[in-house]
Amino acid sequence: MDVTRANGREVLVSLTVSTSSIASVRVGAKSVEAMMFDFKSKRRLRAQHHGSGSPATVMSLVNTLASELGQAAPVAVAVGIEAPIERETGAVAPWASTRLPEWREINIRSILENGLGLPVVVDNDANFDALAEWTWGVGRRADCFLNITCSEGVGSGLIIDGRVHRGSDGMAGQIGHTVVEQDGAVCFCGNRGCLATLISERAIVSALSGSDSPKPDLPAVVQAATKGDPACQRVLFESGRHLGRALCNAAKLLSPRTISIGGLLSGAGTFVLDGLNSSIEVASLRAISPSIEFAIGRLGHRSKLLGGLAAALDVSGQGVSELESWMTLDADPRNHS
Ligand SMILES: [Zn+2]
Repeated sequence: MDVTRANGREVLVSLTVSTSSIASVRVGAKSVEAMMFDFKSKRRLRAQHHGSGSPATVMSLVNTLASELGQAAPVAVAVGIEAPIERETGAVAPWASTRLPEWREINIRSILENGLGLPVVVDNDANFDALAEWTWGVGRRADCFLNITCSEGVGSGLIIDGRVHRGSDGMAGQIGHTVVEQDGAVCFCGNRGCLATLISERAIVSALSGSDSPKPDLPAVVQAATKGDPACQRVLFESGRHLGRALCNAAKLLSPRTISIGGLLSGAGTFVLDGLNSSIEVASLRAISPSIEFAIGRLGHRSKLLGGLAAALDVSGQGVSELESWMTLDADPRNHS
């Protein structure tokens, strides 16, 4: 395998029979998805658990996939969680843990490392999205890169000089909770008018609920907009405008080279970028930073698990310079409840 560079390091990868696989797990409120990347046989195995699960769920999924591969264990495991992780406690932040009840008040990494006997990296999955786009996608090798993930929730990951910036307490990147509308709707974080109340999937779907073309979810909104539905095009355009306001405030502080938009909203592509570029805030930003680039993420729904792969490779001192097709083709899911 031709490998020249891990996340910021020059290394050579030689994954041998005994160290041939990496596990990447995504923990969300609705499901836990585990992917085993086997570099020896060049294939991926996937397993899923319905519900938010617990550390025991992750261990069970990883062990199941390892035994399906005929291996004792992977080299390392990455776990991306749909919530911020407190640096001091290693637990999901209490204010964000209502949908992840089994993940609160526990040091997730130490429980998993003790249980699995392997190196484990645990992070907010928005950081994994950013890491994937920085390692293999639209933010490749940018010295300062901001990736925003807009799906059920809104999160972001910031990479500066090749490292994820988490802040002193692990709460960096909470762009979804920056206030963009002073008297806007109440957010679950306790504020009013957070970006998340305007551009999360629920906000976009509810903006259409009173129209003649209500839609059940964000992919349906994107699909209808692509086919010419003006109401759906309008709400996506406005989402881009809201994003523009929030991202410009962040950009003026951080001066990133590239800002990418990922998650379900990235499927809306030009509708969102047109709205973003139409905002007066973006025009003002371009006067200050003419070289800043706004882009749609390249890795789509794969970015969380691929970002976990990048993080787990890094923690085991390895890296992969290019994604091969077996690493990105969709695998058959197997339910594991
Ligand atoms: Zn909020």
